[in-house]
Amino acid sequence: EQIMRESMHNFKNVDWDDIAGLEFAKSTFFEAIILPLRRPDLYTGVRCPPRGVLLFGPPGTGKTLIAKSIASQAKAKFFSINPSSLTSKWVGEGEKLVRTLFAVAAAHQPAIIFIDEVDSLLSKRSGNEHESSLRLKNEFLIHLDGATTSEENRILVIGATNRPQELDEAVRRRFVRRLYIPLPDKDARKQIIVKIIGQVKHNLTTHDIEILSESADGYSGADVDSLCRYASMAPLRALSHAEIDQIEAQQLPAVTMDD
Ligand code: ATP
Repeated sequence: EQIMRESMHNFKNVDWDDIAGLEFAKSTFFEAIILPLRRPDLYTGVRCPPRGVLLFGPPGTGKTLIAKSIASQAKAKFFSINPSSLTSKWVGEGEKLVRTLFAVAAAHQPAIIFIDEVDSLLSKRSGNEHESSLRLKNEFLIHLDGATTSEENRILVIGATNRPQELDEAVRRRFVRRLYIPLPDKDARKQIIVKIIGQVKHNLTTHDIEILSESADGYSGADVDSLCRYASMAPLRALSHAEIDQIEAQQLPAVTMDD
């Protein structure tokens, strides 16, 4: 029940078009993951898709978005699991949850299991590691081996991490497909700005947007996203609380370049 609650909560369909840039990742995943999940009968033998995919790269670059979008397009159920909810359990509870997670996913095929910050769950074995976390890791390895995307078992595990070097070698090997998800380039930043600012009244010209995307070099998609959301509040921020109570939506001033 906890797994279903955590996973289903907040899931909204994500289109490829909602993701700015990352063309290479999109085309790779379309061929390697989405089509095989849709048509497992065509992708057998040497064409059999990987059971584990690792997305790595800086934070806020759209790894979670990609995983959700793959699920939407493959018409797969999306299970997302937060490592801290597994590791903070009583001894043995984490493993039980992992078993249940894979059992629930198997009952809802095709299914995608998304593990954000997979490094914190499946990190390199260190000498002083607690035995319970070793057992949890082993339980995962068993299921990573078992979860194939063949017709009988269409489960795909997508791991995301900002620190791929921290991953256990045995785990890394199981994530056969590994893709670097980079910071957005200027065009991708522009797409995000247009998408967010386009939802409110604004007086930015194409040239302004060009300048903004240029100057946001080094920002992640999440940074650009929150910058635009912050700017979109500016016309309201300039008003007093009494004015906000009175004003009609269409009377709100436009967002400007200064915002
Ligand atoms: P983390 O590693 O911190 O979990 P992440 O790589 O999974 O981050 P997301 O959670 O997918 O990043 O992205 C955070 C938010 O940033 C998204 O909800 C979206 O609003 C925005 N965002 C990030 N990258 C992109 C992108 N390429 N296109 C559109 N929006 C993006």
